[in-house]
Amino acid sequence: MAGAGLGTAFTSGLKKARGAKPPGISRDAVGVLVDTTLCIGCRKCEQACAERHKLPDRSFEDMTVLDRPRRPDEGAYTVVNKYHPDPGASESATFVKFQCMHCVDPACASACITGALSKQKSGPVTYDPNKCIGCRYCMVACPFEIPAYEYHRALVPKVRKCTLCFEYISKLPRDKGGLPACAQVCPMEVMTFGKRSNLLELARWKIKNNPGKYVDHIFGEHEVGGTSWLYLASHPFEKLGFPNLGAKAPPRLTESIQHAVFQGFLPPLALFGILGGFMWLTGRKKETNGKNRQEDDQ
Ligand code: SF4
Ligand code: SF4
Ligand code: SF4
Repeated sequence: MAGAGLGTAFTSGLKKARGAKPPGISRDAVGVLVDTTLCIGCRKCEQACAERHKLPDRSFEDMTVLDRPRRPDEGAYTVVNKYHPDPGASESATFVKFQCMHCVDPACASACITGALSKQKSGPVTYDPNKCIGCRYCMVACPFEIPAYEYHRALVPKVRKCTLCFEYISKLPRDKGGLPACAQVCPMEVMTFGKRSNLLELARWKIKNNPGKYVDHIFGEHEVGGTSWLYLASHPFEKLGFPNLGAKAPPRLTESIQHAVFQGFLPPLALFGILGGFMWLTGRKKETNGKNRQEDDQ
């Protein structure tokens, strides 16, 4: 019976694994295009994000923090870093704002066993704290090392990350605050919020019409299956703190491995058979030994 149960579980697992599909987003899914060539590193975006999301108070006047690379954490959904991709040049600093990339096929959501993280068809990857059990698989899975955990909160710690201001952009018109706070406040208009498909067109237009200004690469167009945040830069992205990632979405990669395991169903079954046989023989031996002892006693 156990064997049959295991077989059914494995077979249904195989069906599920084979049937898994990327979540897919609507043609109208939104995103943000970041033109890093315009950023002056003022940190106003960090401040606006912290204020909107009631993150812990901190100073946004201290520009020395830009001198060392930072990562978003549970108290800061976004950070701006300064890079010197061309140390020989007189004007060499490039500022880059980082946050959750809101991947098209997010590894965090795929790894989350309770569905606490999910990709909305409209673009954002959202988090439901009521479903989260604190396993932190999302933190391990994210190729950008974004989700942060509130280790300091003993009772109800949450995973924290940029929400793409979902709670605002999904409810309010743009002229009434229905924009990401960071994009709204930026004095240099570094960020353009809109449909991802339009942002890709805009990015291609900028590259084509500004020869020599940008590298011919839109970060996020293809990386990890595509991301809702897209970037333009004047230097190769690996010199600006971006990880060098392939185009395949991590969930597709892990599912390929799962498929390989499930397709090799026979070896585990054979293993269960051997173990089952071993247990039966052991049981028989114990039974026989018990009977022999009884006969010796008589
Ligand atoms: S507010 Fe705009 S210019 Fe200032 S650091 Fe943020 S992205 Fe750069
Ligand atoms: S960047 Fe990381 S946390 Fe954000 S959607 Fe992608 S996998 Fe999830
Ligand atoms: S989109 Fe919203 S949550 Fe994300 S970095 Fe900008 S202000 Fe913060």
